[in-house]
Amino acid sequence: MSLPAASRATEESPAPAAWHTCSVATALAALRTAPAGLTDADARRRLATHGPNTLAIGERRSPLRIFAAQLTDFMVLVLVAAAAVSAVLGDVVDAIAITAIIVLDAVVGFVQEYRAERAMAALRALAAPTATVVRDGVPRVVPAAEVVPGDVVVLEAGRIVPADLRLIDAASLRMQEASLTGESMPVEKSTAALATPDLPLGDRTNMAYKSTVATYGRGRGVVVATGMATELGRIAAHLGVARDVATPLQRRLADLGRRLAIAVLTICALVFAAGLVRGEPPLLMFMTAVSLAVAAIPEALPAVLTVSLALGAHAMVRRNALVRKLPAVESLGSVTYVCADKTGTLTMNRMSAEAFHCDDVTTDVPGTGAPWDDLVRAMALDNDAVVHADGEMAGDPLEVALLLAARRSADAGALLDGHPRVAEIPFDAERRCMTTIHRDPAGGFVSFTKGATEAIAACATTIATGRTRRPLVPDEIHAATERMASDGLRVLACAVRRWPALPAAITPETMERDLTLLGLVGVIDPPRSAARDAVETCREAGIVPVMITGDHPGTARAVARRLGMLGADDALLTGSALAAMSDDELAAAVRRVRVYARVAPEQKLAIVRALQRHGEVVAMTGDGVNDAPALTQADVGIAMGVTGTDVAKEASDLVLLDDDFATIVAAIREGRRILDNLRRFIKYALTTNAAEVWLVFVAPLLGFPMPLLPIQLLWINLVTDGFPGLALAAEPAERDVMRRPPRPPRESLLARGLAAHALWVSVLMAGLGIATLAAGIALGSAAWQTMVFTGLAIAQLGHVLAIRSERESLFTQGVASNPALLATVAAMLALQLAAVYVPAMNVVLHTAPLSGVELAITLGAGSVVFVAVELEKWIRRRKEPSCQR
Ligand code: ATP
Repeated sequence: MSLPAASRATEESPAPAAWHTCSVATALAALRTAPAGLTDADARRRLATHGPNTLAIGERRSPLRIFAAQLTDFMVLVLVAAAAVSAVLGDVVDAIAITAIIVLDAVVGFVQEYRAERAMAALRALAAPTATVVRDGVPRVVPAAEVVPGDVVVLEAGRIVPADLRLIDAASLRMQEASLTGESMPVEKSTAALATPDLPLGDRTNMAYKSTVATYGRGRGVVVATGMATELGRIAAHLGVARDVATPLQRRLADLGRRLAIAVLTICALVFAAGLVRGEPPLLMFMTAVSLAVAAIPEALPAVLTVSLALGAHAMVRRNALVRKLPAVESLGSVTYVCADKTGTLTMNRMSAEAFHCDDVTTDVPGTGAPWDDLVRAMALDNDAVVHADGEMAGDPLEVALLLAARRSADAGALLDGHPRVAEIPFDAERRCMTTIHRDPAGGFVSFTKGATEAIAACATTIATGRTRRPLVPDEIHAATERMASDGLRVLACAVRRWPALPAAITPETMERDLTLLGLVGVIDPPRSAARDAVETCREAGIVPVMITGDHPGTARAVARRLGMLGADDALLTGSALAAMSDDELAAAVRRVRVYARVAPEQKLAIVRALQRHGEVVAMTGDGVNDAPALTQADVGIAMGVTGTDVAKEASDLVLLDDDFATIVAAIREGRRILDNLRRFIKYALTTNAAEVWLVFVAPLLGFPMPLLPIQLLWINLVTDGFPGLALAAEPAERDVMRRPPRPPRESLLARGLAAHALWVSVLMAGLGIATLAAGIALGSAAWQTMVFTGLAIAQLGHVLAIRSERESLFTQGVASNPALLATVAAMLALQLAAVYVPAMNVVLHTAPLSGVELAITLGAGSVVFVAVELEKWIRRRKEPSCQR
């Protein structure tokens, strides 16, 4: 069913520019909606009419384009052309075989890249923004793309506005509109209609526009425009689509690939020229040179990296780590410091109020009597949590805990009745407190303020005792706080003030002064069970875990000790001490600090910067609006998936779907595994490609005939290089992957003996090839070329098995511990034997069946590489018994 034509017309008028001049009622009526929102059915209909709330998306690569890209490599084209020429000259079988192998190669490349593309698309869908809208009268989280005109959107600090809204409700709501207006100072919002129709966007104080950010307070707005019809959509229409940028490693790999390509091309030219001088047929030499180039140029290196990063990111989602930016996978492998929030990351964020201090006594249930009654009121009324009759709870877990505790007190019902809330000053992390103002059934008004003890002590002058109050002695209350905090409790202080009449302006300055302190509430938040082990794993992996919290130093210290994060020599730094330090002083101290307490989110940026000055690679978690700068600055910015705001997620590289610290450590492990596998792949590709080049280059110089034919080079490139190389990506993490220090981020790809390994092993492989060739000729074998061809294939398969670990022997590691690779190697061995013994393959690959002796020589020579590389690892184990690599 579609909307009647008349109402559709109403829905689109008035003109978007005039929404700010309508009253709330007019806007709601024009959009045929109400403060209780749309019905689900209506929202669906509108979605069909207006389309999804998205900006025109960038082009996705179509499967056809991915496939075409595989075939348009320049050397491949040259080879196809050469094959065509040789077909014309009569070598039809060769031409077809070469083309077939090239197509097969392209198919393999395509399958990989297509899988990666799909994995990335799935990640993007998971990371898509959401919005809270009121549907059928209840707030519901929906994908932002499904927001429609007429929807009522709920805004709170940290929310990114999903569409253009006319505000219908605003409580101290402040919006940061820099993305649209360039103005970085937040703007205070209201709901009143404005008179001037053509106000600039920044002055339309009753509107909230798509992509702007709520930084403070709460509000609701009705959607007036979605998708490309929004103000942002108009701008986006003028801008190009953002393109994916290459990751640092991708750039370095591309660079390495280019240099190798030049080297290989030079050698190919030499091979061609030398062949001509020796009087070989020019076409054969040309085909040989081009085949060698196709086989030996590691053109797939950057693509392999993208594929393994994308598939790695895909694997991480299963461990609850959602990668938003691909380079994060790389950086994770090099992380040296993990700075994590306490609440919810290291602890469970499942709070319960366990201790109460009031009227000079500390108890485990709230007592009764005058100050206790007010304390219970403060806990329940100065509170935005909701506990439904069916036990379902919504809101900040801390507030839920307070509300539940208040309700448990003897006569909660009678205490709380008749106190409607008339105004509020929301919590913010800077003040560390919040205030609500209520009508007092006894007449006038009453305000309750709760927050960190220091914050409340600073605005209280008296303390409630019995039926009266006495002057507050701050030391006394701090001592009580310390006592509770040292048990790991999070301590909140509550205060009250009665007002015959309210001041004209409700601000922290007018309301949060001359308060009467009521008492303290100690809230327990148990450490996460996996966090302790994860902290230990960090230690072993050379990563320093650091706690950052807005909580009291006593609480932070107690929790950090329990988690094993704070040793005897480690330091705790408070936010106020940090604020007093210069950049240099902080840099001098930062590496010793394991716990930061009472820090403001803005200070996290200084901590990241100070660590980075030492060259540390920092992962930093965050959830609030003010965490965004630190998340952006960190090498790996990590947002909380459950409690995080849109802003934090938007600024992050990685989202923790379960908020758990242990997930960060699991992601680091995965990052290290991916980097390790990439190194293995590079090691494998460089070594085998170089071996082919040496063999084809050196053998003729020593006076031997061409050791391999073009089709055989291409076969080796596909069969023994291609497939096993891919299966290396499935290699599980080495046992010691989290027992060695992080890799320096800017370390060369060829460091740690990789270049030397590639050199000596490739020389050995080529040498064995030439030896096999010589033996074959000496034996008078007609199948000497098949022997070289097969020996090289076997050497490469042995090599891929031996380099699975950098130091462990294949047999300790477990021959079958990478089943994908083992299966691939077995299949490739079977294919190679087929190439030798199946008559049809003999024709295509110009091979001949080997006799027992010939096969024995071939196998013997082929196995030497495996033994030699195992020996290399054995020597390495002898030389460096520990895991310090
Ligand atoms: P962590 O960094 O461990 O996650 P936090 O950053 O969540 O801690 P904040 O939310 O910034 O800590 O809170 C800082 C302090 O403010 C708390 O220790 C508490 O004393 C106080 N506080 C937190 N939430 C509220 C609230 N809803 N009402 C009043 N005070 C609060």
